[in-house]
Amino acid sequence: MGLSCSKVDGAQDSFDEDPQQQQQHPNRNVQYEPTIDDLPPSRQPQAQAKKRPRRSIFRVGSRIVRKNNNGNSFTSPASPTRASNYNHVHDAVSVNFQEAASERGRRSTVPLGVVGLRNLGNTCFLNSSLQCLSATIPLTDYFLGYNYRSEINEDNFLGTQGKLVTAYAELMKIMWLGKSSSIQPVSFKSQLEQFAPQFIGTEQHDAQELLSFLLDGIHEDLNRIPLKPYIEDIDSDGTNDEQDAIEAWKNYLRRDKSLIVDIFQGQLRSTCQCLTCGHKNIRFEPFMYLSLPISDSCRSLKDCLDLYLQQELLQGENRWYCEKCKKHRDATKKTDLWILPAILIVHLKRFKVNEYGQRGSKRDVAIDYPIQKWDLSGVVKSRGSEYPLYDLYAVSNHVGGLSGGHYTAFSLNRFDDQWYEYNDSTSRRVKLDTLRRNQSSAYLLFYNRSEMEQLSSSSNGSGLDSNSNSRARLLIRRQSVSRPDLWPHTQVQDRRDFRDFSRVSVRHSIISSDALLAPPLLTESEVYEEAVDVVIEGPNDEAQSYSYQ
Ligand SMILES: [Zn+2]
Repeated sequence: MGLSCSKVDGAQDSFDEDPQQQQQHPNRNVQYEPTIDDLPPSRQPQAQAKKRPRRSIFRVGSRIVRKNNNGNSFTSPASPTRASNYNHVHDAVSVNFQEAASERGRRSTVPLGVVGLRNLGNTCFLNSSLQCLSATIPLTDYFLGYNYRSEINEDNFLGTQGKLVTAYAELMKIMWLGKSSSIQPVSFKSQLEQFAPQFIGTEQHDAQELLSFLLDGIHEDLNRIPLKPYIEDIDSDGTNDEQDAIEAWKNYLRRDKSLIVDIFQGQLRSTCQCLTCGHKNIRFEPFMYLSLPISDSCRSLKDCLDLYLQQELLQGENRWYCEKCKKHRDATKKTDLWILPAILIVHLKRFKVNEYGQRGSKRDVAIDYPIQKWDLSGVVKSRGSEYPLYDLYAVSNHVGGLSGGHYTAFSLNRFDDQWYEYNDSTSRRVKLDTLRRNQSSAYLLFYNRSEMEQLSSSSNGSGLDSNSNSRARLLIRRQSVSRPDLWPHTQVQDRRDFRDFSRVSVRHSIISSDALLAPPLLTESEVYEEAVDVVIEGPNDEAQSYSYQ
């Protein structure tokens, strides 16, 4: 592997300038600048390359290295630098945005990212989903500011050898860094059709189905597990839910860990109980969206959620197989929210599916959904879960009946904090009232968690600056088997309790618990990355996370 994947910056001096600061945040001043090939072809003129600052600190794979004076060799910097540090992503994206905005000039009246998508023949379901995903800041920033190619898993037969994720990334770059006010997602659609023939042609499709396929595809393309080991699900009896949930999450990460897991996935607890002998079976399962039912009496999102969380009776042909009775028995089933993800997607089940799997009818009832500070603390069951509030940032709407219906989207622009409506190629600014008037069409709701960040004032060190003491932000923790302290269950007990290895044998343990499961396919840098994650510990655990305001 050469150094072509280098991520570059010109701030050589920042490592030496302020040793104090460096110790707190090793990468704080390491800015990210994309390689030329990260940019769309239209933005790759040779002339631009000349203007770049002299490259002196490089990020290679998971390492930060410094170029020596002779200009050829590379060494690691004197201080250890953490791998998996995404702090630079946000800075890099800002640089890209500034460049894109200045290229656009003053004539542009709308902020970056307000871009319509032309209808390619009943593709409004696709356009609507893409607009909602595009407004998902941590996802978009990853593709605009991170060398995502370094994470593509080309050997994963469940993925598309990176073709789908690359097509998606290229589309995001055109939408956010390009100049057009509307574009035709032709090449993205053709890649999609190649891997999902169900979306071929000009028939109307379900936006949720598309979203599900797309996020699964991106997940498998970026799955950091080279070869998935076989792991049996853990069945538990409810005596130690907190620990069982953690074990289940760890097992999940042994097969699936990617940006998509980091951003979109939480955990559900599913409990079945035999009504004859009382035997209980509990499973902790990851989830990516909440699919909420709608009954005649549902008027608000809370009503739908209550219905979803209601205990149901399994009887008749739905009877449950009780392992204790060794028979199918009447049983109860209850689903609970255990841990919530950073981005929560809610799917309102407006379409009734008939016995042939086709849409039977649609419920057009207006569902009142919270715009800001949706408090889920009352329903999240894990004691270890942080109880954050959720803010709405995008909605996929379905208007009209079963056939001939149409999809549109609302989303919040990150630059002017205004809502926009996207109707295929057109976009327009709308007020919140417009969202409220369209509550009967809301089909997919996108919420981001708002975490309060305690800021210590870096200027005077007192931390008493009332203006910057705390602010809302979205914290994305990079999930890895070797870093239980970054799992969403952090507050269960002392995080150290969940390390199943000692510091001395860290390297060995990590390799045996995670990487060794598929040694032939693991590249050197991947092993290094996993190892560095743990070996270098210190007071700056937050350096493992990347945040977006
Ligand atoms: Zn039983």
